[in-house]
Amino acid sequence: MYQIYALKYGERDTTACNFFFRETSHAPLTLHFFVWLILGGPHPVLVDAGCCEEHTAARGLRGFVSPAALVERVGVKADQIPLVVISHLHWDHWAGHTLFPRAEFLVQREEVAFWTGPMARYEAYRMVAEPPTLASLVTLNYAGRMRLVEGEHEVFPGLRAHWVGGHTAGLQIVSVETARGRVVLTSDASHFYRNVERYQPTQLITSLPQMLAGFDTIHRLAGDPSRIVAGHDPEVAERFKPLEPGIIQIA
Ligand SMILES: [Zn+2]
Repeated sequence: MYQIYALKYGERDTTACNFFFRETSHAPLTLHFFVWLILGGPHPVLVDAGCCEEHTAARGLRGFVSPAALVERVGVKADQIPLVVISHLHWDHWAGHTLFPRAEFLVQREEVAFWTGPMARYEAYRMVAEPPTLASLVTLNYAGRMRLVEGEHEVFPGLRAHWVGGHTAGLQIVSVETARGRVVLTSDASHFYRNVERYQPTQLITSLPQMLAGFDTIHRLAGDPSRIVAGHDPEVAERFKPLEPGIIQIA
């Protein structure tokens, strides 16, 4: 049985029409930014690396707390995390990898291929990338710190990564056996509960059919909607148990 903590490292405001697929409402929308720490296995596992202070200004991120400081508040030193599962390579999930100097990074092979491939030249994708942090994929790979996987991958028994694609080519979600059943960390396969619950996609996609099928996968893996942890939704703090500012106990 594993324990999971959602660690919130910042916030950003946008509008519904800028975010959801074919949405007409101009209602304000706030995104919360998280990394997720999983304890109870042979060693701690982090899901996503967040970003560093230097990336926040250009992205309009406020209330930044370093993901490294957050994991330490749960009792784990950042340089003692051996494995970070990276859901995808957008700046807010990958650019903080330097905060975890001893970690190996588990990423879908297709995700690395996408962000180092021909789509990089187009603004629609470039806008969510931090090129210097993507260049480090190569040096980390030669340093033996990239675990490139395909499809479904068991990290430990009861802790698995599952390719879903949709939002990005190699987006993966994580399922975790806990005392409350199998919890699904959706990351950006469902930024908000509204995505997975109403099957409303987001605007930023590489494949719409994959995103829709990903909602099915989330429901199938979780079994019960109460075990879904959305990727950027402030409502996570209401559905689960905040322990102190920025730290939410999921299970
Ligand atoms: Zn994101």
